[in-house]
Amino acid sequence: MIEIADGVFIRRHAELDLTLGLVTGSGDSLLVDSGMDLALASEVRPSRIVLTHNHFDHVLATEAFLPCEVWAHEGCVVDESLLEERAKYYDEPFEGTLVAPTHTFRDTIALDVGGRRVDLHHFGPAHTSHDVVVHVPDAGVVFAGDLVEQGAPAQAGPDATPSNWRHVLDLLLELAPRIVVPGHGDPVDARFVREMVIPEAT
Ligand SMILES: [Zn+2]
Repeated sequence: MIEIADGVFIRRHAELDLTLGLVTGSGDSLLVDSGMDLALASEVRPSRIVLTHNHFDHVLATEAFLPCEVWAHEGCVVDESLLEERAKYYDEPFEGTLVAPTHTFRDTIALDVGGRRVDLHHFGPAHTSHDVVVHVPDAGVVFAGDLVEQGAPAQAGPDATPSNWRHVLDLLLELAPRIVVPGHGDPVDARFVREMVIPEAT
């Protein structure tokens, strides 16, 4: 875990260059994406996980952190289709149980993490139909999920809406973040997001 702001951490993974986040408050913490590493649950015990979107690399390890609340946008579906996507990348089967969100929201919601405010926003479809942006106002940190990628181009699969992506990033930038944490890669600044190339649909 690397502390990028007061009580705000990231966990970088060699696998897919994935980046998870942890926001800590007084005696409480919130994990941004569960990722694929079940062992992380032996280090952190968040009371909540926020899933930025339903791609398998961001959600498969949720089971390891239970019991905890699992937050996502109301359009976030966690089902067997994720395992079909995963099978395109990995030969061995996934040994575990998929966990669906237990708490959802539509546009925005403010959570209290041990006395610390954390806002969840959905700014419309872009990388997926249901991307969640996690904002920690007192730290100036935004977790962008795969709306932003560093070190590799952002990815637009069949479930993406590239035509709305720039608009979504503009709304993200209105949060005036000091640090933007991508779903894959190292943290970036607002300028990186402004200049990021929006992928075309594949
Ligand atoms: Zn993704």
